[in-house]
Amino acid sequence: MNAPLEAPIGFLNLPQQQSLIGPQIRQRVDAVMKHCRFVMGPEVMELEGRLASYSGAAECVGVSSGTDAIQIVLMAEGIGAGDAVFLPAFTYTATAEVPLVLGATPVFVDVDPGTFQIDPASLRQRIADVRRAGRLRPRAVIGVDLFGQPAPWPELRAIAQEEDLFLMADCAQAFGASLSGRRLGREAVATTLSFFPSKPLGAYGDAGGILTDDPARAELYRSLRTHGEGKTRYEVLRTGMNARLDTIQAAILLAKLDLFDMELDRRRAIAAAYDGGVVGRVRPPVRVPDSQPSWAIYSVLTGGAAERTAIQQSMQARGIASAIYYPRPLHQQPAYMAAHDGVSLPVAEDLSQRILALPLHPELTDHDVGRIIAAVCAQGDQT
Ligand SMILES: *Cc1c(COP(=O)(O)O)cnc(C)c1O
Repeated sequence: MNAPLEAPIGFLNLPQQQSLIGPQIRQRVDAVMKHCRFVMGPEVMELEGRLASYSGAAECVGVSSGTDAIQIVLMAEGIGAGDAVFLPAFTYTATAEVPLVLGATPVFVDVDPGTFQIDPASLRQRIADVRRAGRLRPRAVIGVDLFGQPAPWPELRAIAQEEDLFLMADCAQAFGASLSGRRLGREAVATTLSFFPSKPLGAYGDAGGILTDDPARAELYRSLRTHGEGKTRYEVLRTGMNARLDTIQAAILLAKLDLFDMELDRRRAIAAAYDGGVVGRVRPPVRVPDSQPSWAIYSVLTGGAAERTAIQQSMQARGIASAIYYPRPLHQQPAYMAAHDGVSLPVAEDLSQRILALPLHPELTDHDVGRIIAAVCAQGDQT
């Protein structure tokens, strides 16, 4: 039996968000059109100040994307050929792509089956693997705050210190989340942000940022985002990038920041409703203790690939979108297989077969949330 026809529910709803703050966004963009400082205009500095104070970090450097943010942070440490950069096998491709672009080697680490975050025990094992093989120099760890929950930062800091590794946070999915009562942004030496449109704080194009408490590193990041420039534009100190944050994107983000806390509250309320609503049918994400996630993505664990397909079909039959993050762990991607030492990472491999993301965006109504839960829980009536 078909469910009665209702409006489809998309995985995201960007037009509706625009209808809420359209006038504020237009006002901000109009101001940029008037002063015409499209590159490094005053909105960039204003946004950097707002993001630094929001996160509690001393410095924020606006950049062109979350991927470029990671690249600048690793370039600043001089990471390149012969270096091992440890990162979770279960993350977005950008985390692994950057070490390779710089000539370094990504070393994939398994994740926790409950929270989906990088597993500290596997990290220790992988560092030992690399030291034993003796071909690469362990240099850095990238902790990823996956899906909007914090990575296990206290453990990662202890390992990085013991092993003398540079620790950075890929916080592309978790700006606004907090751990032990403090917002993410100061858990590692540097924290990278993405404002890709689908992230919790999304621009209307590509944009990113880097947070740090270290003024010397912040200065280096500012130089690297502008071709390695020194004190004057025509003094080139080092090989850099063209990775500045666009003024218009900064203007849009400034308008959207005013709504951000309200949106985070709504995301958290929806996640709580999902936790209680889907629990007998699928396994909700295990919460990282003492944290307030930003819920960029809300993924449940199904019993297996066949059950996942059945649930996706049940949702689709009711006009409800779903998505799989990630259908393949990175060590099994064609682009990364040659860099991988061949060890199996069983949790990441298993998750990729069973994980399923439900729509979670602040524009969902309580009625939408009820429809989504009902579609996930419906048994055997998806035709
Ligand atoms: C989105 C994302 C990035 C890359 O951000 P862009 O702004 O798209 O370059 C990096 N890491 C993770 C975990 C992401 O989700």
